[in-house]
Amino acid sequence: MKSKKLARIPKPSSESATSRMKLQKSRNTECELQLRSALHRIGLRFRTHRSLLPRRTADIVFVSAKVVVFVNGCFWHGCRRHIGWPKSNIRWWKNKIYNNVIRDQDTDYRLRQAGWKVVRTWEHDTPSVVAQRVASILKKPKRSYRRSFSSSGSY
Ligand SMILES: [Zn+2]
Repeated sequence: MKSKKLARIPKPSSESATSRMKLQKSRNTECELQLRSALHRIGLRFRTHRSLLPRRTADIVFVSAKVVVFVNGCFWHGCRRHIGWPKSNIRWWKNKIYNNVIRDQDTDYRLRQAGWKVVRTWEHDTPSVVAQRVASILKKPKRSYRRSFSSSGSY
């Protein structure tokens, strides 16, 4: 089987469904691409899909500023506003999403311990608004990062 060339035969639908799910979950989601172009529009440059922790990939990374941005899909990351449970295997899905949320929290914790500023945005957030928020965080000197959530942007 392995040695045969099967290039013209379409992939089994289950396999493509699986890879589609994997893709949706981890990279290049539409909301992520929109945010990336919004960041580009205001002149920001960054890396994408960087592995900052073992087996955890960050969506958008500003390496020298040590700022990392994750774009959370509403379904996969358990957005309370938009989650719609699939009709079958609800228990399995709930467990899966719950584990994702726990994993996100753990990722954030570990990145912050390592000195990163972590920004989490949702699929439902407006890309241009998120881009401005990221820009304001990047403008701040490292020492005042901690205050970025409480201050209301005085300049
Ligand atoms: Zn949402």
